[in-house]
Amino acid sequence: MTSLADLHFDNRFARLGDTFSTRVVPEPLTNPRLVVSSAEAMALLDLDTSAAQADIFTELFAGRQIWSAAEPRAMVYSGHQFGVYNPQLGDGRGLLLGEVVNAQGEYWDLHLKGAGSTPYSRMGDGRAVLRSSIREFLASEALPALGIPSSRALCVTVGDDPVYRERQERAAMLLRMAPSHIRFGHFEYFYYTRQHDALRQLIDFTLQTCYPHCQQDAEPVLAMFREVARRTMHMVARWQAYGFCHGVMNTDNMSILGITFDFGPYAFLDDYDAGHICNHSDHAGRYAFNRQPAIAHWNLACLAQALTPYVEVDTLKAELATLMPLHDAEYRRLMNARLGWAGEQPEDEQLRAQLLQLMQDSASDYHITLRLLAEDDPRARDQIIDRPAFDNWLHLHQARQSIDTSAMAGRLACNPVYVLRNYLAQQAIEAAEQNDFSEVRRLHQILRHPFTAQPGQEAYATPPPDWGRRLEISCSS
Ligand code: AMP
Ligand code: MG
Repeated sequence: MTSLADLHFDNRFARLGDTFSTRVVPEPLTNPRLVVSSAEAMALLDLDTSAAQADIFTELFAGRQIWSAAEPRAMVYSGHQFGVYNPQLGDGRGLLLGEVVNAQGEYWDLHLKGAGSTPYSRMGDGRAVLRSSIREFLASEALPALGIPSSRALCVTVGDDPVYRERQERAAMLLRMAPSHIRFGHFEYFYYTRQHDALRQLIDFTLQTCYPHCQQDAEPVLAMFREVARRTMHMVARWQAYGFCHGVMNTDNMSILGITFDFGPYAFLDDYDAGHICNHSDHAGRYAFNRQPAIAHWNLACLAQALTPYVEVDTLKAELATLMPLHDAEYRRLMNARLGWAGEQPEDEQLRAQLLQLMQDSASDYHITLRLLAEDDPRARDQIIDRPAFDNWLHLHQARQSIDTSAMAGRLACNPVYVLRNYLAQQAIEAAEQNDFSEVRRLHQILRHPFTAQPGQEAYATPPPDWGRRLEISCSS
């Protein structure tokens, strides 16, 4: 076990030099307090949780002290935002503090979000508000518990510093962890600025640090692209199966690791609505729930474009053509597991579509309906308005299950009781804004075990009350 002061750093990305990032010192928070921390994220760094006294913790993670071995850097990247290329983005309010190596030799980037202005802040203040930091923390820890790959979050701290958005709020910091913070937009930046030597260096760095096994391939860059693409499509299949909307699938928010990254106005569905748009600023619905697989594909095409100096265009096109079936197969596998259907049968496609249509027409709660079905609870029927159609579907569903009952036992382990609904996050945020952090901490603990009914926590498994149904979550964070 390691104490917080003794983390071992090896800052490989910083060593790439000033072409890739700029040294920036964090602007600390005033009077920082710890809002919430994740023991699981700490364990990934071998941190001794008992030794993490709140005061050192807050000092370090509010940017007031810095490890002598840390080398805070703002990374440069670009990206396609809502389909339009933005040539200059970068860490505008976050810093890569450094790379921590744990006892197993695994690397974890520590990234302090809300660390103050950087050369990439443009018009922004470099700050993050408490509300969005809590939202990112909760999602970062809730998604992995559902089996959805994601960046992690070690803690949130809040200070007294005022921050101005639609109203005055308080500055907070989130300590984010991921094995890499390289995004699709990093490759686009060096490609579109025609810095092909730097692009090559970035590719080699990514191969060495994230995809070392691809280096042995006859075409390492193609092998890496293939794996990024597979992971990304599989990640999105999990989003679709569990009703998660990312909300801002810009290429600068796409991780090269194929993990969920950069949480903004994300949402889990409440009632099933295939076309749900969770981002209040997304007027055209570009990032609507049911468009996510196609957008992931579009984003991978942007990444492919940036790799064209090293891989034949036709080869990349052929690779892109294989991706939607990868998503579809993974989605089918996940949904069939949720429904207790072993393997895949020709009629499954239609049967799944019928269930989703019944839910859509009834505005049924997505998670509750699926959980009730997994529990063989007759109240599943109450979720659907067209009862004869449901009875008909249920009959076919049970017949489908009985072909091979082997998948039925696993249903409870893949149909969550608890999901991070917007209204639950909102309740926790409102309490935290009054300096009561107990609700954020409670919600975080409940979401660590989403598949297990927890006695006394029934209120967290209910659909939203009226006020919490269509919360408008803006991009400003
Ligand atoms: P996001 O929508 O959070 O993915 O951010 C898009 C870009 O805007 C990134 O380059 C961010 O670093 C930058 N950005 C977002 N909010 C701020 C802020 N408050 N201050 C400075 N830069 C910001
Ligand atoms: Mg971003």
